[in-house]
Amino acid sequence: MRREYIDSMPDLHATWLSRRSRPWNAVLDALPSQCAICRRWPAARFCADCLARWSQPVPRCSLCARHLEGGAAVCGACLKQPPRLKHCIAVLDYAYPWQNVIARYKFHGDTGLAHGLGRLMSSHPQVEQVLDGSDLLLPVPASDQRLRERGFDHTLLLARALHPPIPVWHRAVERRHTLQSQHELGRAQRLRHLQKVFAVAPDFSSRIRGRHIALLDDVMTTGATLDALAGCLLQSGAAGVSALVLCRTP
Ligand SMILES: [Zn+2]
Ligand SMILES: [Zn+2]
Repeated sequence: MRREYIDSMPDLHATWLSRRSRPWNAVLDALPSQCAICRRWPAARFCADCLARWSQPVPRCSLCARHLEGGAAVCGACLKQPPRLKHCIAVLDYAYPWQNVIARYKFHGDTGLAHGLGRLMSSHPQVEQVLDGSDLLLPVPASDQRLRERGFDHTLLLARALHPPIPVWHRAVERRHTLQSQHELGRAQRLRHLQKVFAVAPDFSSRIRGRHIALLDDVMTTGATLDALAGCLLQSGAAGVSALVLCRTP
């Protein structure tokens, strides 16, 4: 399927739920639901008890979002070799129960979870700071092949659920599909491979120049994908690139 065909199908990229206005959010928030973690009913999609138990913020390195004790802002690894990202904010650990929640959202098509996950992210004070200091939000793109398999763009849905004060540019970068899964590659191969995966879309190359860009991803593991995307944007003249991630491997 060609990209222009996929682009003409907004309901594939994201559902109408992601475009609803704030008054509608208030109405939907008031409707009873089932907690996606403890299954309590009626409750919010993530009940207050589960949020208190599983979403407490932990101190993290401001450049790579790894856990960091002792009050330092930046970890030793980032001091030694500073990453290309200006800031990297992770809201949750990629561990129980969020691993299961993300699997339900991403692989089982429970797109209704985007609203609760977006709210969780946008209520994080550092996420708000990064959004306020950026000109645009760029959800990490999926390849056309992945979009087709999944039927929706999970990072775009999440980006819209943040209700960011800046535009969401989900077509600014194209991601080429490769047959081999990145999980099957070794680290060196994966880095080499990632350098060729992203390309700024022709219409956007001049519009990227001089902009401060916030990237958004659902899961960060090694950080290689975000680093490669930041490299691609900086090469195209972006003034700075930061990243917001929902979950990071601890
Ligand atoms: Zn719960
Ligand atoms: Zn670090």
